[in-house]
Amino acid sequence: MDTVEEIKARLNIENIIGEYVRLTPAGTNLKGLCPFHREKTPSFMVSPDKEMWHCFGCGKGGDLFTFIMEIEGIEFPEALRILAERAGVQLSRIPQPQKNKKTRVLDVLSLIAQWYHQSFALSKAGVVAREYAQRRGLLPETIQAWQIGYAPDLWDAGLAFARKRGFTQEELRESGMFIVKGDGALYDRFRHRLMFPIRDHRGTIVGFGGRILDGSKTDPGEAKYINSPQTLVYDKSNVLFGLYQAKSSIREAGEAVIVEGYMDVVSSSQAEVKNVVAASGTALTPAQARILKRYTSTVSFAFDNDSAGLRAALRALDIVWIEAMTVKAIPIIGGKDPDDIARESPDGWQNAVAGAVPVIDYWISVFQKTTDLSSGQGKRVFAQALLPLIRRMPDSIEQSHYIQRVSTLLHVSEETIIKAMNATVKKRADGHARIPASNAPHEQKTVSSLSEEFLWGIVLLHPELISVIIDIVTEDMMPTDALKELYNCAKLYYNQPDFHTQPFIDFVRAQTPQSENYPVALQMLAEDAFGHLDTEHQLKEFEKLLIRIQRVWLAIQRKELIFQLKDAEQKGDHARIEQLLAEQQRLHSYLQRLEGV
Ligand SMILES: [Zn+2]
Repeated sequence: MDTVEEIKARLNIENIIGEYVRLTPAGTNLKGLCPFHREKTPSFMVSPDKEMWHCFGCGKGGDLFTFIMEIEGIEFPEALRILAERAGVQLSRIPQPQKNKKTRVLDVLSLIAQWYHQSFALSKAGVVAREYAQRRGLLPETIQAWQIGYAPDLWDAGLAFARKRGFTQEELRESGMFIVKGDGALYDRFRHRLMFPIRDHRGTIVGFGGRILDGSKTDPGEAKYINSPQTLVYDKSNVLFGLYQAKSSIREAGEAVIVEGYMDVVSSSQAEVKNVVAASGTALTPAQARILKRYTSTVSFAFDNDSAGLRAALRALDIVWIEAMTVKAIPIIGGKDPDDIARESPDGWQNAVAGAVPVIDYWISVFQKTTDLSSGQGKRVFAQALLPLIRRMPDSIEQSHYIQRVSTLLHVSEETIIKAMNATVKKRADGHARIPASNAPHEQKTVSSLSEEFLWGIVLLHPELISVIIDIVTEDMMPTDALKELYNCAKLYYNQPDFHTQPFIDFVRAQTPQSENYPVALQMLAEDAFGHLDTEHQLKEFEKLLIRIQRVWLAIQRKELIFQLKDAEQKGDHARIEQLLAEQQRLHSYLQRLEGV
């Protein structure tokens, strides 16, 4: 048995995945809400027997190793190391890698963090930092937990410290802790500042943020905060300050609070709101949103209730709504920082966070208070502020809810609101609706999935149905690329002269090696949903699904046709109208045949 197999044999896939996803039994398998995309009904399935997982919502799937790689955002060697440790399997055959430049640079940062922390606690010069921390209400255990430090007010103190530890000039330069002078010499980037080590989500220190302290000898115009630059080990676009400390609280709370600064994070955490992170020196980036998404799909922002706050909200929503996250707003009054609020009243901050409301509701209430919605001018201001937010909403049902609300508030028809909203950007509607588990056949047993996937699941259990499906279904009835591919595979298989020599599922897996788990997952889906039925009843389910799929497809085709007809009529294109009417007749007959009329 090789190492990977040995690890898989020793660990239960459902236990490991269960640490990240709440799993409930579904037939012989387990189901849960997918950690990789936003959903309200489970599409995520784990099979202990087959040692695999699959999500019918986003299409991700694989084994224990791919799960850990995906969810932790790590490469295979690291997943191997983590799981080997969990399983108690020795990796002695794998040679320890030589300490490379990256590890050396990380060593510089970790040693300097300890040194700053000591300077804060013990050095005479550190008294300014200690007094500052005291004024800001930072408790000793908070300072300890965040390893807050003090960078002395000298040009070369850090440099001298690091040199004594034997680091090369290049390693020091790469650490981002020093600035290179014209002649190539180095000096300390951070001087007389309160220092916050920035850790990546695994807890490794990758950079620092430094806050200015009073009584600095330096230029009075100097920035309040300075940060480590982008380095070999610090990619600012994908590090969130506080995530390492916050991740378990984020999972527990089911949401993350996003604030602006280091002090906001630290004070909030001290005030027992621990599920809090900051974008550390940048505006929130898409990569940061994706990382957060591993832990939760709900984020709360503290926005100021002014136009700057609204602009910040728009920027943030553009990022997090790409990831289809739910966004809430924490009402902040009077331009205070979360840091101020948390320090003055921990309860006040806890209540503010608990009182977060859906982001659009927040802005509606702000404008209701400040704008006269009965005047034409007020309506315009309100619409200009709110419609860009509503237009960005990823969920169309939620969106139409807010269109209705705005329509009621302004006494303007929904059509007008929609027109105004779409004036800038057009959205493309997707005709294929996902069947939530509650409407899917045998809801209690299975995960939420497409009708087409249940259909193919049955075909994979009963390959003799391939001829039926190829006769009736066309490729464009398949709503996803993966299903189109499966359809074409079936056609290929059926048209082979000796198609019965290789089982259909093996054929499909060989044809689509990059998604070889998909057919197995479909089979499991059908087993869970229909496994309790005898063959005759399974075939009945197959027929029902087949009719439903054609009906949905027909409805979409007919809608599309009506649209094209209107267009042709407007243009007075008579030849085209003739052609479309014939097509309409054809679809109509198809539907009649289908309904058995
Ligand atoms: Zn998914």
